Amino acid sequence: MDHFNYQADRLCVEDVPLEAIAQTYGTPAYVYSGATIRRHFDVFEQALAGQSHLICYAVKANSNLAILGLLASLGAGFDIVSGGELTRVLRAGGRADRVVFSGVGKRRDEMAQALEAGIRCFNVESQAELTQLNDVAGSLGRRAPVSLRVNPDVDAKTHPYIATGLKQNKFGIAIDAAEAAYRQAADLPHLDVCGVDFHIGSQLTDLSPFRDATQRVLDLVDRLADQGIVLRHLDAGGGLGIRYRNENPPAPADYARTVGELLQGRDLELLVEPGRVLVGNAGVLLTQVLLLKPADHRNFAVVDAAMNDLLRPTLYDAYHDILPVSPREDGHKIWDIVGPVCETGDWLGRERELAIQTGDYLAVRSAGAYGFVMASNYNSRPRPPEILVEGEQMFLVRERETLDDLFRGERSPY
Ligand SMILES: *Cc1c(COP(=O)(O)O)cnc(C)c1O
Repeated sequence: MDHFNYQADRLCVEDVPLEAIAQTYGTPAYVYSGATIRRHFDVFEQALAGQSHLICYAVKANSNLAILGLLASLGAGFDIVSGGELTRVLRAGGRADRVVFSGVGKRRDEMAQALEAGIRCFNVESQAELTQLNDVAGSLGRRAPVSLRVNPDVDAKTHPYIATGLKQNKFGIAIDAAEAAYRQAADLPHLDVCGVDFHIGSQLTDLSPFRDATQRVLDLVDRLADQGIVLRHLDAGGGLGIRYRNENPPAPADYARTVGELLQGRDLELLVEPGRVLVGNAGVLLTQVLLLKPADHRNFAVVDAAMNDLLRPTLYDAYHDILPVSPREDGHKIWDIVGPVCETGDWLGRERELAIQTGDYLAVRSAGAYGFVMASNYNSRPRPPEILVEGEQMFLVRERETLDDLFRGERSPY
């Protein structure tokens, strides 16, 4: 459930008409609903209430300081993948002891930064990383809490670019090699082995690969216990899907029940790393129609947002619903909604039935996750502002970039 609804024929975010936001802040613009994020987080919390757990929001889905601050105020932990994300979390008021650090390639300075901040756990993805982390921790006179990310070799049945749990993917330590890696970790003096984690992919719409992965990892936990390596937590990653179009993703309660049943009777804290499911449907990209280009074979509506603002359609062939901010009664046609960038792949939606005119505002839905964070300045386009709504209030949580911002830091020798 989200808070983007029509009220008296005007598309609103909570109690604010999107048209008012477009008029105040211009377009393109990202718009988020605070109540939606809070609701999604609460649903997850309630689903996991029966067991000892920590929800570590995957910062990469949307790392705006306001969103991190909102989630921190709700008690969330955070799953980070870089030193930059750690800096953001701390700046937003997040607690270091609720941060887990994922990622297949961490730099030494990032390891040191996280050790000094006192994070909860490093999710280590290779044996080479174990020795590097041990070195860095030793040089700082610290012990690094570690969990090994194992690759359970299950097919998450999602888009190949976001499937991560197959043995041909770059992620994690193959489950068959995991016991040896744990023995290595247990022998390294500056590591404290505390958990295990996995993340099989994103936009999962079926629980069975997730259940299989959890079972495989729990079997590993048992084999390790037999060897005297007793783990304290299991981190089941993120990946729960959302509805972009007609998907039927599992409810957080079903997801929680699945893990809960498998974990029953074990003394393991559950960590989860949801990203998309918390913020994806809490945001839209607001855009204005620049001009209409009807043609024999295809009708193009050129809008002021483009692939540099929202990359998902281009990168993943992703579907995002596109809604008129002020719907028209008639004049419906089939349109391709495209941006001004010089790439054929620059489209936001294809073959959409809409009644639109030049100057109309459109809302590209489900843009709260992997939206702004993937935006670039390609074609020297300033990145859009981000606006967070709470009830009747609008907060500009990131300014629109200016033309000067485009070349900040550049130098020319001529
Ligand atoms: C991307 C990622 C997540 C979040 O994935 P969602 O599909 O957004 O829930 C969680 N954990 C890891 C390790 C990731 O790489």
